[in-house]
Amino acid sequence: MRLFEKWRAKSPYYDASHEAVAQSVRRFVETEIAPHIDRWEREGELPRELHRKAAAAGILGLGYPEAYGGCSEGFDIFHSLVQSEELAAPGAGGLIASLMTHGIGLPPILAMGSEAMRERVACEVLSGEKIISLCITEPGAGSDVAQLKTRAERKGAHYRVNGSKMFITSAMRADYLTVAVRTGGPGMGGISLLLVEADRPGVSRTRLEKMGWHCSDTAALYFEDVEVPAENLIGPENGGFPGIMRNFNSERLGMAHGCMAMSRVALQEAVDWALQRETFGKPLIGHQSIRIKLADLVRQIEATQAWVDLLALQHREGIGEPASYAMLKVQATRTLENVAREAAQVLGGASYLRGSKVERIYREVRVNAIGGGSEEILLDLAGRQLFGGRR
Ligand SMILES: Cc1cc2nc3c(=O)[nH]c(=O)nc-3n(C[C@H](O)[C@H](O)[C@H](O)COP(=O)(O)OP(=O)(O)OC[C@H]3O[C@@H](n4cnc5c(N)ncnc54)[C@H](O)[C@@H]3O)c2cc1C
Repeated sequence: MRLFEKWRAKSPYYDASHEAVAQSVRRFVETEIAPHIDRWEREGELPRELHRKAAAAGILGLGYPEAYGGCSEGFDIFHSLVQSEELAAPGAGGLIASLMTHGIGLPPILAMGSEAMRERVACEVLSGEKIISLCITEPGAGSDVAQLKTRAERKGAHYRVNGSKMFITSAMRADYLTVAVRTGGPGMGGISLLLVEADRPGVSRTRLEKMGWHCSDTAALYFEDVEVPAENLIGPENGGFPGIMRNFNSERLGMAHGCMAMSRVALQEAVDWALQRETFGKPLIGHQSIRIKLADLVRQIEATQAWVDLLALQHREGIGEPASYAMLKVQATRTLENVAREAAQVLGGASYLRGSKVERIYREVRVNAIGGGSEEILLDLAGRQLFGGRR
């Protein structure tokens, strides 16, 4: 019983072009990802070759300008959602986080970088030859981005960078780093974005072991007197904060949709199990309380997905409100949290064994609720937008 097999066909937001993307990505996942994902989870990172293959299959470039090797003509935000839905099928959030890190690392360069920088970096990244990370968080500055301390001092034709970054996705393998640095005074008005090539002298990295997202390499980065040419500045000096902010809404929408895709995977696993596992003389699904539990999860997923699709439409039309992105992401992470919990409950002891998708998804709930804006920060942001600032 494929619970969500045809859900897009019944939605006004999706048409045959979206199904074509789905089929193509599904084939890629079945041949190039599903057979290897458990090994990559054990190894702690994705092979570089996967980036090249994903580029060749049109996955890395979807939604990016043709001029840099992307494919945007005739595609909209819903094609990107369909793609991430299919990439979620193996039930490994680290795959999407790490294979698609350019989704957060590249946009500031495309929006604010020089043409020479766009040509060099975007072309290499979208072809899968190079990997890019976005480096905002520091050991002393997470939610409170405006407190970041990594300093870039202008010395003639160079900046000299000193400081450190924390929790950076794909940063063990990254070739390019989009780094938020302090070039001016305190607060958000003193922050710039700088492109740092990861092989520059003075850049070092340490791998971080995590609860989930095992196939996604995460690193702490250290910058010690790293010399970076001044032309690596992305946008105006001290004007980096808007570049960071402009990423947030699409990242939150993408994460919300990703949570729904993972919720569907977990629920499908639970339904499959409930159909074949027998207790007290009948399949689990024959017990009324289990049927109610599963139907309740469908209810939560369908309601949240409806909001994801509505906000995606508003995003496409440029009328999405920051409060909506913030609240939707919280709605989605809480839905995933509940679905993962209840799906694991239906699987019983089997959910606790390594190798089950539900076990993996359960371990990945927290990173969704914390990264890309934690639940508290997002609800506060929404509250301030809805009800006004501090009183
Ligand atoms: C696996 C992983 C991958 C990541 N990848 C990246 C990446 O690629 N690039 C990057 O830059 N960052 C990345 N991050 C960092 C992520 O964005 C931060 O963890 C997040 O912004 C929260 O910051 P923090 O962990 O420092 O928590 P803190 O800001 O220290 O907050 C701790 C807790 O306190 C709460 N809190 C904080 N302030 C308030 C307040 N005013 N009122 C109420 N509650 C509050 C928060 O909600 C949170 O629950 C990643 C994190 C993880 C775990």
